[in-house]
Amino acid sequence: MAKDEGCGCGQGRAPRHDACAAVHKSEDGSLDEFLDQQALDERLQRIRHRIIVMSGKGGVGKSTVAANVAISLALSGKSVGLLDVDIHGPSIPKMLKLGDAAVRMKNGVIQPVEKAGLKVMSIGFLLRDRDEAVIWRGPMKIGVIKQFLKDVEWGDLDYLVIDSPPGTGDEPLSVAQLAAPVDGAVIVTTPQDVATADVRKSINFCRQLNLPVLGVVENMSGFVCPKCGTVTDIFKAGGGERMAADTGVPFLGRIPVDPAVGEACDDGKPFVYHYSRTETAKAFERVVTPILALSNKVTTEQMPNNTTNEGGKTAMKIAIPVADGKLCMHFGHCEQFALLAADEKTKKVTGKQMLIPPPHEPGVLPRWLHEQGANVIIAGGMGQRAQALFAENNIKVVVGAASGDPEELASQYLAGVLASGTNVCDH
Ligand code: ADP
Repeated sequence: MAKDEGCGCGQGRAPRHDACAAVHKSEDGSLDEFLDQQALDERLQRIRHRIIVMSGKGGVGKSTVAANVAISLALSGKSVGLLDVDIHGPSIPKMLKLGDAAVRMKNGVIQPVEKAGLKVMSIGFLLRDRDEAVIWRGPMKIGVIKQFLKDVEWGDLDYLVIDSPPGTGDEPLSVAQLAAPVDGAVIVTTPQDVATADVRKSINFCRQLNLPVLGVVENMSGFVCPKCGTVTDIFKAGGGERMAADTGVPFLGRIPVDPAVGEACDDGKPFVYHYSRTETAKAFERVVTPILALSNKVTTEQMPNNTTNEGGKTAMKIAIPVADGKLCMHFGHCEQFALLAADEKTKKVTGKQMLIPPPHEPGVLPRWLHEQGANVIIAGGMGQRAQALFAENNIKVVVGAASGDPEELASQYLAGVLASGTNVCDH
């Protein structure tokens, strides 16, 4: 996958233009990064929910859970992508009998492989020899993870299920950061104590990254006799459940060791599809329930895009600079913008979108927020010049708001009770 050699000036690809050389000389890195980030944002904006399946260590059934969650979501009528970035053990191609699948390019964009109603992409598709060991340095792995998120034609998806590398190192960290904001993580463990100790680390990892934990799955918990269906606890069961209770995260249930799961994986048959009536398939479905519930929440897709209300008025979009999930006092240095759609009639917030802003330069944010459809910005502080630039872009500025949850601040603004006034910025 060749890197675009174009200079980004809109005049074509390499060789770079003399007229642009000076700019590139000084800003090359940041311009490339900016364009990369923009491409990633555009791709991710078309994916309503991003779910990471994690585990503290390998071999606990993380990929099995990821594949079956993705298939269950697809069976529920959702459009689903499954991205396998488990670089050292990409097992998704084998589980879905896609061992021979080749990655195709169309108009310079990587096409996912389609199977069982899923769009699938795996690092395994890129290995010439599927038994080849991947010996890559950290930046290469991170580059590939980014490319899979940014350069694959995922299209419009309800869910992207990401099978993350095990552990809490650089690779899962990159997945969590590059796919941000992620709706939540499903953490897979086995009942043995060692594994559960590792999983505590995964929970702490999620907490440090402000990544919601959808819950813990205790896989290989008890053994299903293939003859009579009786479940016998061969290891001490219940460790995952206890640990979930101790750490205050939801417990998503136990999945027994079921020879049919292993066989289905080996034969490339999606288990929940071929064995849908079994108790084990029902256990997988329980894992999916909170993930499906995400679609019922207010989401990006429900954001009106310059739509009009009954009275012909443009729907209101309120922008709020955010850092650590709260209004950030200095809007030029925020991590993200919350863009909240509101119904002016009912005075209710109807949608929320988290956007990563372009790098802060004078005039860039007002123009960019205008392009996103914002017509109000609630800020802690803002200089006079910035206020004028927002006004030029038809965005009403409300300054002096206190730090707080963006949705609450927007609701207070709509109800006319937002405490504002003291502009904390005087430049
Ligand atoms: P990980 O992604 O954590 O490395 P995998 O999902 O690849 O683990 O699973 C490892 C092996 O265990 C696979 O052969 C898979 O078929 C098997 N396996 C996973 N979960 C179960 C289960 N509940 N019952 C039987 N076999 C299972």
